[in-house]
Amino acid sequence: MITFLSGGTGTPKLLRGMQKVMDRHEIAVVVNTAEDIWISGNHISPDIDTVMYLFAGILNTDTWWGVRNDTFASHEEATRLGYDEFIAIGDRDRAVHIVRGDMLRNGMRLTNVTKVLCERFGVRETVLPMTDTEVTTQVETDLGMIHFQEYWVRGKGKIDIRKVVRSYNEPPVATEEVLAVIDASDAIVIGPSNPITSILPILTCEGMKPALKDKFVVAISPFIGHAPVSGPAGALMEAAGYEPSAIGTFNCYNGIPDVFVQDVRDEVEISHSVRFDTLMTDEDKSIALARDILSLIRTA
Ligand code: GDP
Repeated sequence: MITFLSGGTGTPKLLRGMQKVMDRHEIAVVVNTAEDIWISGNHISPDIDTVMYLFAGILNTDTWWGVRNDTFASHEEATRLGYDEFIAIGDRDRAVHIVRGDMLRNGMRLTNVTKVLCERFGVRETVLPMTDTEVTTQVETDLGMIHFQEYWVRGKGKIDIRKVVRSYNEPPVATEEVLAVIDASDAIVIGPSNPITSILPILTCEGMKPALKDKFVVAISPFIGHAPVSGPAGALMEAAGYEPSAIGTFNCYNGIPDVFVQDVRDEVEISHSVRFDTLMTDEDKSIALARDILSLIRTA
C-alpha cells in the first residue's frame, strides 16, 4: 500500500499514472479539505471531488475539476435569477454536492460520506478526507480576510495577499482511518500539490507528523524553476514566507521527506534530491513519473 497526500491538480495528475502501474486497491489518498465550501446550500469538497472523479473515470482532465461533458443548466438558471453563484458548478457535479451536503447535515462524518460516494462511483482506491471537522484556508487582503475560493475563483488570484491563515472551531485532527492507512503503507508520497493550500493543511492535522516519523516519505516539487506549473502557489508561498521554488517547497516540508524530488529542468540543486521529469502534460508522462517514483520506493 502507498498513501498519497493530495490536493486537486498536481497530485491527481500523478495518480492518473499510478492507477495504470499499481494495483488500484493498493492506492490510498489522504485529501486536503481546507478548500471546502458550502455554496448554494450544498457542500463542495473540490479536492475530494477531483480525486474521486479521476478514479471513477469521469473527471474533466482539461480543467482538473468537474465532470467531463457536464452541463451547466442549473448554474445558468441560478445566474439568470440573479443569484451570485461565483463558482460555475456543473449539473452532475452539483448532484454530488447535494448528496454530500444532505448526508453531512444528517450528522454523517465526511469520511463516511466520501466512502459511500466512492462506492457508488465504483472507485477501487481508498479516498480519505484528512479530517472530519471543518477547516478553512483564508487569505488576508485589502478586502479583509477572505476564503481561498473567493481569492482564487472570484478574484481570479489577482488580489494581493499578505498572509495565509487556516481557521477552524476546533483544531483539525487526522482521522483514525487516515492514521490506519499510513500505518499500513510501505511509503508515503507527498505529491506535487500546492504546499501552502493543499499539503500543509494535511501535515498540520494533529497526529499526522508523528504518524509519518518512521515512514519512508517521498515529496515531489510542484515548482519547476521559480514558477509553479499552474495555479497560485507562487503568491501563496511568498505570503507564507517561503521562496516560490523547489527550495522553498523543500524548506516548507521541514525535514519530513526522506527523499525530495525536483524537476530535471531546475537550475538550483537541492542537496540529496533526486531529479525526474515531473512535467505531466499527458497520461504517458504521468505514467512515466509514476514508474520513476515506484522504482525509487522499491530501491529505498
Ligand atoms: P489545487 O488543489 O487545485 O490547488 O491543486 P494541487 O494543490 O493538487 O496542485 C496545484 C499544484 O500542482 C500547482 O502548484 C502546480 O504547480 C502543480 N502541478 C500541476 N501540474 C503539475 C505537473 O505536471 N508537474 C508538477 N511538478 N507540478 C504540477
